[in-house]
Amino acid sequence: RHWGITPPLGFAIGAVRYPDRAAVIDERGAFSYAELEQRTSRLANGLRKRVKRGTRIGILCRNHHGPVETMVAAAKLGVDVVLLNTGLSGQQLADVITQQQVGVLVLDAEFRAQLPELPDEVDQVLAWTDGTTRRDTLEHLIATSSPRRPAKPRRHARMIVLTSGTTGTPKGARRPDPPSLSPAASILSRLPLTSGERMLVCAPLFHTWGLAAFQLGAVLNSTLVLRRKFEPEQALASVQRNQITALFAVPVMLQRLLDLPEAIRDRYDHSTLRIVASSGSALPADLATRFQRAFGNVLYNLYGSTEVSWVSIANPSDLRAAPGTAGRPPRGTTVRILAEDGSQVKRGETGRIFAGNNMLFEGYTNGGRREVVDGLMSTGDLGRTDSSGRLFVVGREDDMIISGGENVYPKETEDAIGRLPEVSETAVIGVDDPDFGQRLAAFVVLRPGQDLDAEQVRDRVRDRLSKFALPRDVIFLDELPRNATGKVVPRELRERLGT
Ligand code: ATP
Repeated sequence: RHWGITPPLGFAIGAVRYPDRAAVIDERGAFSYAELEQRTSRLANGLRKRVKRGTRIGILCRNHHGPVETMVAAAKLGVDVVLLNTGLSGQQLADVITQQQVGVLVLDAEFRAQLPELPDEVDQVLAWTDGTTRRDTLEHLIATSSPRRPAKPRRHARMIVLTSGTTGTPKGARRPDPPSLSPAASILSRLPLTSGERMLVCAPLFHTWGLAAFQLGAVLNSTLVLRRKFEPEQALASVQRNQITALFAVPVMLQRLLDLPEAIRDRYDHSTLRIVASSGSALPADLATRFQRAFGNVLYNLYGSTEVSWVSIANPSDLRAAPGTAGRPPRGTTVRILAEDGSQVKRGETGRIFAGNNMLFEGYTNGGRREVVDGLMSTGDLGRTDSSGRLFVVGREDDMIISGGENVYPKETEDAIGRLPEVSETAVIGVDDPDFGQRLAAFVVLRPGQDLDAEQVRDRVRDRLSKFALPRDVIFLDELPRNATGKVVPRELRERLGT
């Protein structure tokens, strides 16, 4: 299954049509479409001799021009790419590299120390550095290789994307093609991006969400603005400086923007922003409402996963009418909510979310698949729809607990606690309980200067929740443990509880 336009072609078209337009802007400066086209051809020619047949290029980078150029160069060569999560420990990285047959490792110099011992598979390590051209750097390779566009590769390169690793070691998901047009076209049916958009991509490029933004930028001949690290005030400064029209983020980043004192927020003009797109994890209802109040009706919530691609998208009016919603399926996607026995649940009832489109993944790289019913794949999540057909994600199937014989969804408790004005963010998990089988434990981060105790938290949400959905434990933390894609890591919360 191959689709006509791929990012390399998007960049090649940009180089002809808009040679002087900035394709990428990062801390080093702007790279025009013409420049990027030439640099990626040089890089591809330089890498050709170094990548042994059957091995892949692993990319371990923050967001900047480097991973973009590496992905395009690999596609020009027809070599598979494995996108590595910068938040993994040395051991996890080594495991993934071995498992994914990474022969050439392209990294940011700062990550060298993270891999003290290189797995045997890796026979080349090449680093991106800030403009220096030492012999072992990719800049050197670019400077010394031919700018001729490489001949058409014999095979299409594949992109291996890892799941975010919320539930364990990240799993490799094989996507058809180098990122195909299909997910981009699907997103565009509900996200009104136009050609020449100026996109600030804060979501990491190694994850499906950042990758989708990169792909959209390429096919729309947009300008991608990339920053190595997310820092809220710097992000707003970049919005003003680069006249950003579309921001791509994960929910916790939106939370950080809102946490900025108003005086700082008001220092920067964000009136160019038409679209703020959030994905990667659930967008809390209260965050959606507060964000729209502060930044206007610009918020979109995209729900999808590495395996199933895009399931549904909420636009600003969906989020105004129903703040926690994940919206409606984009073009080409069918969503069904099924009961345990495979029948469709009634509207409003909670069931398992299944989705079908032509973007379903082809299986995990180390084996294993997802359940498929009538061509629709399980998302692993539970959800329901409202009377207008808008989807609500109730949480992961695995997160649901049975307490006192009742099904309890931690996310509903999270939403209730998250609405309290004293609360900045919260995460709720299920833990074993000798009396009730399981019970909920809530972790709460208060806003600066606020004070609440556990009993007050419980009292304030009591009227919204059933008895078993009330958290028995309420633990206050300074911040929630999150992975590199901004998701809370339940394993680490459990450790704090000592269970
Ligand atoms: P792992 O499988 O390694 O634990 P992961 O499931 O976090 O990682 P991803 O593919 O990154 O891997 O995440 C997809 C999941 O994230 C979805 O199945 C869903 O649970 C959650 N998710 C993503 N976007 C949204 C959203 N907009 N609303 C609600 N949930 C979301």
